[in-house]
Amino acid sequence: MSGFRIGPAIASGDGYTIVENASLQGRNTFHVAARANLLIDVRKPAALGELFGYAMLRTQPLLVLGEGSNILFTRDWSGVVLSIAALGIRVEHDDGERARIRVEAGENWNDFVRWSLARGYAGLENLVLIPGTVGAAPIQNIGAYGTEVREFIAVVEAWDRRSGGPVTLSNSDCAFAYRDSLFKRERDRYVVTAVEFELPRTRPLRIDYAGIREELVAMGVAEPTPPTVAEAVARIRTRKLPNPALLGNAGSFFKNPLVETAQAEALLAVHPGLPVWPAGSRSKLSAAWLIEACGLKGLQDGDAGISAQHALVLVNHGNASGAQLWALAERVRATVCERFGVQLEPEPVVA
Ligand SMILES: Cc1cc2nc3c(=O)[nH]c(=O)nc-3n(C[C@H](O)[C@H](O)[C@H](O)COP(=O)(O)OP(=O)(O)OC[C@H]3O[C@@H](n4cnc5c(N)ncnc54)[C@H](O)[C@@H]3O)c2cc1C
Repeated sequence: MSGFRIGPAIASGDGYTIVENASLQGRNTFHVAARANLLIDVRKPAALGELFGYAMLRTQPLLVLGEGSNILFTRDWSGVVLSIAALGIRVEHDDGERARIRVEAGENWNDFVRWSLARGYAGLENLVLIPGTVGAAPIQNIGAYGTEVREFIAVVEAWDRRSGGPVTLSNSDCAFAYRDSLFKRERDRYVVTAVEFELPRTRPLRIDYAGIREELVAMGVAEPTPPTVAEAVARIRTRKLPNPALLGNAGSFFKNPLVETAQAEALLAVHPGLPVWPAGSRSKLSAAWLIEACGLKGLQDGDAGISAQHALVLVNHGNASGAQLWALAERVRATVCERFGVQLEPEPVVA
């Protein structure tokens, strides 16, 4: 390895730093203890060519980590953890109606949303306050309050580990779906280095969703704008979701399950209160309702718990291990399956 200087535990090269046997506890929002054999912080994506030239990066298990807000470490990572820390936001083109904006993967998502709103761009207001990096946003096609990020992604720039070089993927290449994309289906293949967004100056606001309109009224806003809608969403989110800085969590731990419409209808006949939404030829059920109906909201087992605020959120009350949190999640899944015959799937990556 001629490219970098190496000390007892730390090495660095042009645009990256490597730490051996690194703690990941400060790098996941559950705050669970876990270690990685090697942790590589990449500040310049151009360094990826050199890094992937080293055999250990090609042969050891690789995990790309952003801010760790959608991951549960159940054990140490016996391989390489790669964090893309590249920063930068650049307007590539703006014709007065819409703009093409390129954002490096390491930028914080919420900072970018605030940046876009402050400059008069519309679209991202319903996605305010989602934790994590811009590079992770396409991975599960982040969504909230009736909006998904795929609506604004023009292209994703990534390092393709299969071809061993950089690639630019169009929106349709990314095969976005509900909390899903090509990047989830071909896990380990792509390292996202930058995302190009297309943002309009004006766009119909989406305020008929989960209390936004009522919040705007409470704020005294008669003529909503993207920044005031963002403020309304931020206020609702702050009330509803535990702050990971104070109580370890990864947001919603379970996806809303997709089932055959016949099964949804059969469940509705017995449980008329169950929220069901159409989802193409299938139906989507409220995972929160199913968990709450099993009496699991607020459940605690040691320091692992289900939030008393929100049944979908698994929380670490202090020193729960990732394995303990996962055991509780498995208990929730088994209980819901036994009672309703519905299989819940975790939204975060379980590593
Ligand atoms: C309180 C709270 C609220 C949340 N609310 C929402 C919400 O409303 N909607 C929603 O969709 N999500 C939500 N989430 C989940 C989370 O914020 C998003 O999934 C976010 O995009 C994760 O970003 P991250 O940088 O923390 O990714 P990480 O957790 O570090 O990684 C998540 C996944 O993305 C991969 N990944 C990360 N960066 C890259 C990269 N550069 N290239 C390739 N792969 C990469 C990782 O390997 C992993 O598979 C919430 C989480 C919390 C804690």
